[in-house]
Amino acid sequence: MPVVETVLGPVAAHELGEVDAHEHVFLRTPVNPGDEFLDTDSAAAELLRVASSGMRTVVDLTPVGLGRRPGQLAEVSRTSGIHVIAATGFHRSAHYPAFHWARQADDATLLDVLLDDLRVGMDSHDWDFPRPIPSPHKAGIIKLGASYHRIDRHEERWFAAGAAAARSTGVAVAVHTEIGTAAHAALDLLDKHGVPAGRVLLAHTDRNPDPELHLDLIARGAYLVYDTIGRIKYRPDSVVLELIERMAEAGKLGQICLGTDVGRKSSLTAYGGGPGMDVLGRDFVPRLRRRLGHEAVETVLRYAPQTLLAKEPSAR
Ligand SMILES: [Zn+2]
Repeated sequence: MPVVETVLGPVAAHELGEVDAHEHVFLRTPVNPGDEFLDTDSAAAELLRVASSGMRTVVDLTPVGLGRRPGQLAEVSRTSGIHVIAATGFHRSAHYPAFHWARQADDATLLDVLLDDLRVGMDSHDWDFPRPIPSPHKAGIIKLGASYHRIDRHEERWFAAGAAAARSTGVAVAVHTEIGTAAHAALDLLDKHGVPAGRVLLAHTDRNPDPELHLDLIARGAYLVYDTIGRIKYRPDSVVLELIERMAEAGKLGQICLGTDVGRKSSLTAYGGGPGMDVLGRDFVPRLRRRLGHEAVETVLRYAPQTLLAKEPSAR
């Protein structure tokens, strides 16, 4: 039976229920100064709202060094009843200051960090070296990041480490694309390192809502996550609904996942902001159901993410 590693242990993929495939439960990054959110009670309150909106699982794509809190992730998962799948890996290089260890670490160290998070348990201090203390909470997905229209030399090395860790453990790889660019390049690089497109989730593809590009990426086998839902500054949600309709007409909904990726304190209801992490289940899913019906909703919230997230049993 295919399983997924959550922060509270392995869960059968089909038990994940409705999946929000891109969130951040805690986050702190130099890219968004003053917009960090690290409070446990607020995270629990936000996830309780997500649960009330009809979602059962949240994929937390916060990678190494950006505010991961393994113990607190487990705590808010228990409080809210939401399955939380945590990430290891490295974001696009802009998220790491010039002196950050991940820029200097050798290839073997990078891989060890990822494998420890996936096999032993995420480091309690999120690899704030020199003294790692493994938590009992494992990561269940690998997060990588590409820059705008390019993959820089640091990101290239992190892709190589991430691909090696994915091959060893069988977990999926999620890639941040900057406004949907460099998606083909990311698939090429992962493929070169032995990870086929069918194990890859491309994030923020809806920032560039180009249906022909999306169908090309899907034809390679990749999964896409439309994860700027509710963030109207980018475009109205009707554009995402139309995009999903195009993918449905092409028979490709089985490779589409949804999320909101509210990566700022000012986007979270628990901190007095909006639209809130529950915007997907609360506002968007009812619109999608009216437009495309129940089965389409089941496909993008259950079938697609559960298939992607299930660990490959053949992994070493
Ligand atoms: Zn994100």
